[in-house]
Amino acid sequence: MSTEAILRRIRDEAIRFVDVRFTDLRGALHHVTLAADHVDAALIEEGCMFDGSSIAGWKSVEASDMKLRPDPQHAYIDPFHAEKTLCLHCSVVEPDSGEAYVRDPRSIAARAEAHLNRISVADAAYFGPEAEFFIFDDVRIATTMNRVAHEVDAPSAAWNSDTAYAAGNKGHRPHVRGGYLPVGPMDDGQDLRSEMLTTMQAMGMQVDKHHHEAATCQHELGLVFGPLLRQADEMQKYKYVVRNVAAAYGRTATFMPKPLQGDNGSGMHVNLSLWKDGHPLFAGDGYGGLSDTALWFVGGILRHARALNAFTNPTTNSYKRLVPGFAAPVLQSWSAHNRSGCVRIPWARSARGRRIEARFPDPSANPYLAFSALLMAGLDGIEQRIDPGDAMETNLYDIPSERPGEFPMLCRSLREALDALEEDHDFLRVDDVFPAELIESYIALKWTEVTRYDTTPHPVEFAMYYSI
Ligand code: GLN
Ligand code: MG
Ligand code: MG
Ligand code: MG
Repeated sequence: MSTEAILRRIRDEAIRFVDVRFTDLRGALHHVTLAADHVDAALIEEGCMFDGSSIAGWKSVEASDMKLRPDPQHAYIDPFHAEKTLCLHCSVVEPDSGEAYVRDPRSIAARAEAHLNRISVADAAYFGPEAEFFIFDDVRIATTMNRVAHEVDAPSAAWNSDTAYAAGNKGHRPHVRGGYLPVGPMDDGQDLRSEMLTTMQAMGMQVDKHHHEAATCQHELGLVFGPLLRQADEMQKYKYVVRNVAAAYGRTATFMPKPLQGDNGSGMHVNLSLWKDGHPLFAGDGYGGLSDTALWFVGGILRHARALNAFTNPTTNSYKRLVPGFAAPVLQSWSAHNRSGCVRIPWARSARGRRIEARFPDPSANPYLAFSALLMAGLDGIEQRIDPGDAMETNLYDIPSERPGEFPMLCRSLREALDALEEDHDFLRVDDVFPAELIESYIALKWTEVTRYDTTPHPVEFAMYYSI
């Protein structure tokens, strides 16, 4: 949509407000709301000023001015606002030069796409993220804390759903890892998820299904694949809708990767494929129906998996999900069917559906940075023809304890991941897709989380150590 078309839309549809939205380094969406009658072509083309010093990891107070430049290609009406509000996703630019701000994640995604256009190997990359989430109400959040205490008090006692919830007969609720695809009343999220899907469709998003996930209170909606930048925008909308519909029902949604100890966490599997001139580059006659290009791409993802963790699993909580036994990966492995591996090759009806699924990312990731980093790792694999090694068909959860050290592991903590990124980031620096300043400021910001976490007494420590 052109600037003209946006202005016409504002007039024709009697739009009262224009909401300009951007994403910070951590992946949080922010917005400023402009009165529509003050929005003109200059504001859309040049951008509107805001204070960048109040956004974590961005500018300092002495040099805080920045501009939000709306992307007119992507406009949608916000369904949650009483007044008619048109939303535009923005890139952040320097006020003087008008150049992209190097710490703006959305600009990194644009740089990754520009890089893809410059190289000859492919001209399009498609991303199909599957972000899982939990929906809780206050009672369940409270009892989650009780449950930690309960398990520490009696670690050998089998946990059951009666002890997870406050009171009453909860036998009709999904038990631990017992939530996969039940009908109601076990599944009590049907109307909520349907409303999420309908709301997303009204916002122009392509969503095709929804279901209860394996953990108690865990859900997933199906977002149809799309190109990198657009899909990262869609993921921001996905989270926004999930949270706001849940709030409208008096409940709360979280994309925190591991809110419940002892049950599955939330992943954000990322399905990925490369295309050129309309042809699927990942289809071939190798293992799993893959081409050499796809195998090398997998090789690149596995080689850089530990550095990728800093972007795909960027919270201290992420590493509580990447443990054996919960359908999330722990080893740098891959295969066609194995859901305990890092990369899986999903079954595809046709060559056009051939793709790889990175299973380690989680929904606490900033989608602009995570998708861009995954792409750069895969492209490095193609460039260097990195062999992914043998596919591993067995259950991988027993390997770390039975054959320790035999296979490389994903990172075990955010600290390890930041160290890994510090060591291994040349693949991100290619064509200056991830500027050095972005990587440095990201690591510095994330270190503040590691330090805060490391120096904060944990509730479990009170249970384990208070009276020793
Ligand atoms: N929740 C699992 C994870 O953490 C995935 C389970 C699934 O999608 N079947 O990745
Ligand atoms: Mg899924
Ligand atoms: Mg799932
Ligand atoms: Mg999946």
